[in-house]
Order: sequence, then structure tokens, then C-alpha cells
Amino acid sequence: MTLTAQPKASHFIDGAYVEDTAGAEIEVIFPATGAVIARLHEATPAIVEAAIASAERAQKDWAAMRPVERARILSRAVQIIRERNEELSQLETLDTGKPINETRYADATSGADCLEYFAGLAPTVTGETIPLGRDMVYTIREPLGVCVGIGAWNYPTQIACWKSAPALAMGNAMVFKPSETTPLCTLKLAEIYIEAGLPPGLFNVVQGRGAVGASLVTDPRVAKVSLTGSVATGRKVYAAAAEGIRAVTMELGGKSPLIVFDDASVEDAVGAAMLGNFYSTGQICSNGTRVFVQKGIKAKFLERLKARTEAIVIGDPRAEATQMGPLVSRMQAEKVAHYLQVARDEGATLVTGGSMKDGLYVEPTVFADVTDAMTIAREEIFGPVMSVLDFETEDEVLARANGSEEGLAAGVFTADLARAHRMVAGLQAGTTWINAYNLTPVEAPFGGVKRSGVGRENAKAAIEHYSQVKSVYLGLGPVDAPY
Ligand code: NDP
Repeated sequence: MTLTAQPKASHFIDGAYVEDTAGAEIEVIFPATGAVIARLHEATPAIVEAAIASAERAQKDWAAMRPVERARILSRAVQIIRERNEELSQLETLDTGKPINETRYADATSGADCLEYFAGLAPTVTGETIPLGRDMVYTIREPLGVCVGIGAWNYPTQIACWKSAPALAMGNAMVFKPSETTPLCTLKLAEIYIEAGLPPGLFNVVQGRGAVGASLVTDPRVAKVSLTGSVATGRKVYAAAAEGIRAVTMELGGKSPLIVFDDASVEDAVGAAMLGNFYSTGQICSNGTRVFVQKGIKAKFLERLKARTEAIVIGDPRAEATQMGPLVSRMQAEKVAHYLQVARDEGATLVTGGSMKDGLYVEPTVFADVTDAMTIAREEIFGPVMSVLDFETEDEVLARANGSEEGLAAGVFTADLARAHRMVAGLQAGTTWINAYNLTPVEAPFGGVKRSGVGRENAKAAIEHYSQVKSVYLGLGPVDAPY
């Protein structure tokens, strides 16, 4: 894998790479070595203007096409992504530091699944006819227009696909701003769309930090904003979108519970807890970072968890054997180091891990005897730090699991399926799992409740968030006016 990933230019607008060196520089760093793999420039106001103007121009013709024609183009993009999976996975690994044996299976491939799903769905979307005796109403599901997508750094390709696939399928255009930390893969997606036959302007990429995102969100030509990011950023973007009464989808952070009852399979529950805390070096929004374990199973659970965690292979994400790479950035490493110290200071029991390693690496860490009041049980860490909390009864754990301001996800492990369904019915979360964790197939709606977000991505639910209903009243007789 080469250690340079310099794209032709920073931005992709109207079907071509565009540069404006007047924008502040962005250094793209391979987290495993600290090497600078690309230098980009932030979008200037002229770049943002070009991106929105070309999207606005292109969207009208795109919306006028038959859905089946739009679907055909998206399906070609699916094929290209699958053919280039290795190249895209290597770039994602350089951009994010995630192991090649994750990116090969979880990133571009899940983006291709998403495009495939929405390509299939697009031609099936119809309105309804509503009989009113003599008259009638029919409805048309119309695109919104120009949509803005803003991404987090943990799943750059997947996030860009989860937003652009339903947007494009429904006849919208999208201007996308990736995270400044991982800006490279989205440019490849833009190239692939053009190669697949997408008309220029329908998927434009502009680079930049928060201020560039903010300028997109407040542009009067923008109809909708979809953000994946932290709750703090979500609050700002939601408020800015509200100024123009723009539609939003907010995919924000969480502090999700994973509840393990005494009767659960220990190996399955341990495996799920590890997946839900250590995959992508713990940098996943829906992670089950509060693992509630019923007292009867605690000793066995911790014993197996410790043994299996200590067997995780940490190392260079380019190596085939590596199961856990570095954190994405120095800032994120400092944040995780801070929480490791706070957990110790507040009296959590360190089961395994607990230390930063060279560079941006951190040991996968488990703390036991964590209480609800401890900082690591309340704040999103976004690193491989699992908190294990004890519980005794179903009612108790349900109340404690819901005692978070966030509500992105939740999981239950038990052999008692009646209890499992009772639990998920009571859990305040947008996405839940029974005897599984962190699986997010495109067929299932994904999103949060409470402060974790607004709207849903994926599945049929996403169609509603990238279209609007027009009612058409059809008068079929004389107008009955009282004047
Ligand atoms: P941030 O909230 O820091 O940033 C998200 C995006 O918003 C970035 O592209 C950022 O730009 C941009 N941004 C920042 N400020 C503004 C602003 N005022 N207006 C418009 N855009 C702005 O999140 P991270 O990138 O640090 O990602 C981690 C967070 O994302 C975690 O909280 C995680 O839980 C959440 N997340 C949620 C997911 C979900 O689906 N629910 C999935 C994945 C992550 P820049 O970074 O360039 O400054």
C-alpha cells in the first residue's frame, strides 16, 4: 500500500476536480505513522458557490428523469464500487487508520449495498389516490432539491453513500462536505458516480472545517441538511437549518446500553460486547459502551471478556493480521487518554488494557464496577473503552439503561425471548438488537431518539426524508361557490 493519496484537487464540482489554493490548507494524516498523505485546501466562498449553483442546475433535469433511468445509473455505480473495493478499502484505511480487514468488508461494500437498495427502491415509490366522492386527491412524492450532506470521520465512504444514495434515487442533488480529518474517499465516490453516468453537478464534494459546513447549511438554495456528527455539532447545525425552515436528518452520538441477562450465551454476549466497543477502534456512534451484566453471570463474563480482549491483535492497519488500528487523530487520542485517567480517578476497576501505546494506539480497555454516575458511563468516549456495570433485576436495568440523554441504540442478550421483546419495547433507542449488536444492514432503518438524532437513514424510512408529498385536488364537477 503506497503512502501517498494526493487527489488531483481538493474539491469535485460539476463532474470535475477543482482547486482553489486560496483556501486554508488541510493536511491529511495516516494515523498509523503520522505521515502526511495528502494536502488539500478548504473551500473558499467561490468554491461553495460553484458547488451549490451546479447542483441546483443539474437537479431539475435529474428530477425529470424516469426513476428507472436514475436507478440504472446508481446500479452502475454499485458495480464499479464492488470492482474497485480493494483500492477503495486501502484508501479508507489510509484516511481513517481502520484495519484493511475491516475496510474491505464494512466500508465501500456497505456503501454499494446502500446504492443497490435505493436503486431498487426508486422506481417503486408512488403516490396515492384518495377518493372524495365526485372529486379526488392524488399525491406525488417529489424531490426536495439541493441537499447538503455533512459527514463524520469514522465511516467516510459509508456515510457519503447513506446520504447520497436515497437523495439521488429520489431525484435530488447533493453537496457533500466530508470531515476534514478523512476527506479522501468521498472524492473517489464522486469520480465513480461520474463514471457510472451520473450527470455532472448532482454529487459535488467540497472540503473544509466546520465553517464551510455552516456556510452550506445556511445557503437559501439548500432544501435539506443531513449531518452525521456529535450532539454538540448537531445542535448548531439544527439551529442554523431552522433559520431557513430546512428539513434535517441528524445522526448524532450516543451512550448506548447493552444488557446481558444471566441466561444469555456468555460467548455470544462477550463477542457482541467486543464488537460493540472495539470494532473500528471503538469509534462507532452506536457502540454499546454501557454493558450492563446481571450479577449471576458477571464473573464468567469478565473472565472470558478479559481473555478474548487480550488476544486482539493491535498493529499497523495495513497488515492482514491486524484487528485493531490506531485512533483517527491526535485529538481523539488525547480525548481517550483523558477518559482512561478519569475512570481510574473515579474508582472504576481496570480489568484489562488502560494504557495508550506508541503514537495513536490505545489498548482495548475494560473497566468493571462502573456506576451510573461515573463520567465514563455518561459521556461518549469514541474509543475502545468498555464500561461494565452490574445489575440485578429487569426493571432496575431498564430504568438505568434509559437514564441517558441520548438514545441511539440498545441491545439485549437473553435466552428468554418474551423478556427480550419486553425489554426492547421499553428501551428508549432508535435502533435495537436482540442477541446481536451493531449490525446495520441497509434494509433496516437506522437513527436515534432523544438527543441522538432526528429522522432515519436507510430502509424505506429514508425515502420520506429525501422527498416531500404534494397533494393534488382534482375538481371533477362545477365549483360550488357561496358568492
Ligand atoms: P463532529 O460533530 O465534530 O463533526 C461532524 C461534521 O460536522 C464534520 O464534517 C465537521 O467538520 C462538521 N461541522 C462541525 N461544525 C459544524 C458547523 N457549525 N456547521 C456545519 N458543519 C459542522 O463529529 P466527528 O467528526 O468528531 O464525529 C464523531 C461524532 O459523530 C460522534 O459523536 C459520533 O457519535 C457521531 N456519529 C454519529 C453517527 C450516527 O449515525 N448517529 C455515526 C458516526 C458518528 P470538521 O470535522 O471538518 O470540523
